[in-house]
Amino acid sequence: HEPKVESSSKAPIEFSKVDADLLPTVIIIGRPNVGKSALYNRLIRRREALVYNTPNDHVTRDIREGIGKLSDLRFRVLDSAGLEAEACSGSVLQRTAEMTGRVLARSQFALFLIDARDGLQPMDLDVGKWLRKHAPGIKTIVVMNKAESLHDGAGSLARAAGEAYLLGFGDPVPISAETGLGMVELYEVMRPLLEDYMQRVLSDEGDQDNSPTEDEESKLPLQLAIVGRPNVGKSTLLNALLQEDRVLVGPEAGLTRDSVRAQFEYQGRTIYMVDTAGWLHRTKHDRGAASLSIMQTRKNLMRAHIVALVLDAEEIAKDRRSMKHDEVVIARRAVEEGRGLVVIVNKMDLLKGKLYERVIKAVPEEIQTVIPQVTGIPVVFVSALEGKGRTAVMRQVIDTYETWCLRLSTARLNRWLRKVMSRHSWKDQAAQPKVKYFTQVKARPPTFVAFVSSKAKLSDTDLRFLTRSLKEDFNLGGIPIRIMQRSVA
Ligand code: GDP
Ligand code: GDP
Repeated sequence: HEPKVESSSKAPIEFSKVDADLLPTVIIIGRPNVGKSALYNRLIRRREALVYNTPNDHVTRDIREGIGKLSDLRFRVLDSAGLEAEACSGSVLQRTAEMTGRVLARSQFALFLIDARDGLQPMDLDVGKWLRKHAPGIKTIVVMNKAESLHDGAGSLARAAGEAYLLGFGDPVPISAETGLGMVELYEVMRPLLEDYMQRVLSDEGDQDNSPTEDEESKLPLQLAIVGRPNVGKSTLLNALLQEDRVLVGPEAGLTRDSVRAQFEYQGRTIYMVDTAGWLHRTKHDRGAASLSIMQTRKNLMRAHIVALVLDAEEIAKDRRSMKHDEVVIARRAVEEGRGLVVIVNKMDLLKGKLYERVIKAVPEEIQTVIPQVTGIPVVFVSALEGKGRTAVMRQVIDTYETWCLRLSTARLNRWLRKVMSRHSWKDQAAQPKVKYFTQVKARPPTFVAFVSSKAKLSDTDLRFLTRSLKEDFNLGGIPIRIMQRSVA
């Protein structure tokens, strides 16, 4: 018998108070020129646009992402320029398919745009078919854009609507992205759907939402970024992992300036590698390239699931400290961005005897001290040059990735919660916050919500206790864990 959240399912959702991570994701889709960008801009009010390139070398396809606002509704909105071309041409490039999978896996809702003036076009039908095929679970709303000049009296709007109905996604909503006509109607259609979704996410049915299951997620390629200072041996390591001399290796710092992307299979899993050039401390005249490379590293960090930070064992022995300042900065950033972190100490072949022993003992301890936010960061000692440690690296990367993708069932979490609540010695019994219920709302990285009785709020100490217990009891080393709290009456 699991505890129930009694009243939260009735309370209206205040979207503006929901953590951005938990908001529903709405993708705007449609053939070219129907006004997707125009609608996107209207929804995000041209602010907060975060433009990033998809990892695709051949065709640059941009996905814009922002926070959409429609009255009190809040949602993540994706503008899918480029996806429509694929949908229309029917040819699915492999890399694009990968990206499409990722984008659609993240979305729970689609706004399917058509042009009210053109009426239904064959390409619209293609987009509809494509959407059904790739994302049968996505709730789709057909939106008839450019409706500002159509008058219902003349019958043209009704005719367009009748045609749009043939797409099979229900009644279309006429709007004009340009003038703002129909935004109230769009709100009225979206509000109950998004609210229903939010209720499920924030309640005990969270497990059954539309987000992909662990299996689907782990089928997607694992994206691994190898980062580190120049000359620590990133390229050598990359080569060792690829077991092929594809990346140029040389003694000069910064020889491999550009990010090199490589894809390989490891134990049936696709690994997508991003090798970054050294990211800091270049010579002065090389400034332009250096700053570019810092930006590139940051971008790669955002894109990576797992960040492998490479350190140089010889430097550690010389310095008598595990990480230099910029290495700490990048490790912390990776953790803050919610990435899984694996530390690789390279060039172990250069250390002998006592020094070797000392480095192996000191590094994990020191890393824990400088990055206290994440416990149990895996540290692997290797010699890329001698090809030693390849298996250990890959095992840690995959282990960390699997933890990062982990989904714990609500039943299991609540059995755990009852045990843990009795274990904690609350200072003041009377003021003991009551965590009624605990659930995982998201993976990659695992994100949890603790439902507490409305009068009690978890202090930072309580949250830290819960986080620590969760990590220890479920063995969640090396990845950032997020716990949020929400009141129930
Ligand atoms: P996308 O290719 O689907 O992203 O379409 P865009 O947003 O770039 O819009 C294509 C064209 O349609 C542009 O010239 C827009 O100005 C125009 N457009 C977009 N929304 C409207 C609208 O509501 N009414 C009218 N009349 N034109 C629009
Ligand atoms: P990057 O700038 O981080 O990509 O570093 P490179 O892979 O280009 O390596 C820099 C230098 O360190 C090269 O001369 C490599 O041969 C050397 N190196 C890389 N890995 C090892 C290792 O495991 N042991 C030793 N002794 N040297 C290494």
